[in-house]
Amino acid sequence: MNGYRFEISPLRITNTSDAPRGSNVYYKCSYCGSIVPSQPADAIACACNNIYIDPDYIRLVVRDFAGFNILIKVKSKQFPD
Ligand SMILES: [Zn+2]
Repeated sequence: MNGYRFEISPLRITNTSDAPRGSNVYYKCSYCGSIVPSQPADAIACACNNIYIDPDYIRLVVRDFAGFNILIKVKSKQFPD
């Protein structure tokens, strides 16, 4: 069984232009707990709209960076029996 887990990046940003993007990069909102992909196919927002991504304009909007976390999706190689 293959699985994935999220690692919280220590990177803290205050400007959306500094946010990393990629198929393995996700953003998590601390307020509502939503996790959204950094490169969504369609516009997406977290449940409380703190984080919003418009892929047409490659635009990331963060209302409060205190609730903005960067997650890196990594393959889990070890599972307990
Ligand atoms: Zn939220």
